[in-house]
Amino acid sequence: MLFKPISQSFHDFLVERDKEKCINCEVCVRQCPYDVYYWDDARQQVMHDSSKCIGCHRCEALCPTACITVRLNPAEFRPNSLWTGTYIKNLFKQADTGGVLLSGCGCPQDKPIYWDKLQLDASQVTNPSIDPLREPMETRTFLGSKPDMLEFEETPEGPCLKGKLAPQLTLEFPIMFGAMSFGAINFNLHKAMALAATETGIYYNTGEGGLHQTLYKYGKNTIVQVASGRFGVHRDYLNAGAAIEIKVGQGAKPGIGGHLPGEKIDEEVSKTRMVPLGSDAISPAPHHDIYSIEDLLQLIYALKEATEYTKPVSVKIAAVHNAAAIASGIVRAGADIVVIDGFRGGTGAAPTMIRDNVGLPIELCLAAVDRRLRDDGIRNRASLVASGGIRCSADVVKAIALGADAVYIGSAALIAVGCTMCGRCYTGKCPWGIATNEARLKKRQNPDVAAKRLANLVKAWGHEIQEMLGGMGLNSIESLRGNTDKLRGIGLNQIELDTLGVKAAGQ
Ligand code: SF4
Ligand code: SF4
Ligand code: SF4
Repeated sequence: MLFKPISQSFHDFLVERDKEKCINCEVCVRQCPYDVYYWDDARQQVMHDSSKCIGCHRCEALCPTACITVRLNPAEFRPNSLWTGTYIKNLFKQADTGGVLLSGCGCPQDKPIYWDKLQLDASQVTNPSIDPLREPMETRTFLGSKPDMLEFEETPEGPCLKGKLAPQLTLEFPIMFGAMSFGAINFNLHKAMALAATETGIYYNTGEGGLHQTLYKYGKNTIVQVASGRFGVHRDYLNAGAAIEIKVGQGAKPGIGGHLPGEKIDEEVSKTRMVPLGSDAISPAPHHDIYSIEDLLQLIYALKEATEYTKPVSVKIAAVHNAAAIASGIVRAGADIVVIDGFRGGTGAAPTMIRDNVGLPIELCLAAVDRRLRDDGIRNRASLVASGGIRCSADVVKAIALGADAVYIGSAALIAVGCTMCGRCYTGKCPWGIATNEARLKKRQNPDVAAKRLANLVKAWGHEIQEMLGGMGLNSIESLRGNTDKLRGIGLNQIELDTLGVKAAGQ
């Protein structure tokens, strides 16, 4: 019999401290939420226990003498391509606990990342490139249903659009902050996203946890979400945002619901979500009133009625095998925006097996959905938003060339404010003060500082997008949308090329 669970004997990280440089200031003791460091009275010095380390790098970043190094534990099991260390450790954990393995963040496995196998075109000599510093470059994007054709009438003031356009969201850049619920992340981060979205002229998404009363004033840059649990959903909430999103599925965990552990439900979260303090908030896998496209249509129109047809309604689904047909049905059901979330999309908590083994890459699914909507002749009736693993501005440009109107970013936004992708969001003890509602941890995020960093990120990507457009000889994001001729595939087989709708490099 071992004196501790086997899983604790084989830890993932090793903490190394240079004893010569350590000044025993105890900063690390205060900063580590996982109790790795402690003050040893007998030795009169700080000591540490690597077995508890989850690899967040908070202590490394804040140690005043830079004497800490956190690295992967070099201890290895005998090489075995089938029974790798990860599988062995997971089996130990489950035998110790009898529980489902949980993870945060998106799928980390070594599966194809198609963004890296797509190269952008560039202009040379003919169709010359455009310098965005000297010439106008349009990145403004409108999300919402567009009519089959535009009709104008002559008026004394000049030609005027006949009839009324469906409500649209106006984005200065084709980027939005993806759904992260109040509770999964804390108020400081929600406020930071609201401030940054307002400053940059884009939108953030409440996720499924309602909207804190003090954030209603940022409503014109807010997308409010309606998920299966209906947490925090009421008439004022629906009317507070600029658009409403029905969440049917999420890329990180297609086919299952959400679970916010009771530890993350403090008084404010409880009030906003309309759930009891400290109780788990579990959203069911399906919406209990949606079993068909007709049911979805009813919910879309119920939401439009409730908001007097003044806001676009979006429907978010996970990237799955028949997403193209489902998206076609969603558009016919009256959605103004369709969101497709790929399997690398982040999450606060998901069963590890689901996160790593269910769902499809956003790149393939996005191209398939765009093609299906074009083939059906209904592409103009809804905008397409891609999400799930967008890491940089080049990914945004490639997504738009594959057919997206805009993208959602989640993990990238969290990394901008300090997240190190440690994957422990589900514990409620986020060392960087993001995915936590513990008072001592959440104050690590200042909403104004975080907002500045988020706004910087969006602006930086905006500049890079303009440069890439200019390099391709395009002066507007509109000219790139669905323009797969601006992409070439490297190292892809014919089926992948056909699914993406791109030619191989050299063709
Ligand atoms: S923060 Fe650095 S210097 Fe301070 S006790 Fe920890 S290891 Fe030593
Ligand atoms: S702060 Fe993070 S990286 Fe440092 S010891 Fe604690 S868990 Fe490990
Ligand atoms: S949000 Fe926090 S807990 Fe989650 S991965 Fe990032 S640093 Fe870790």
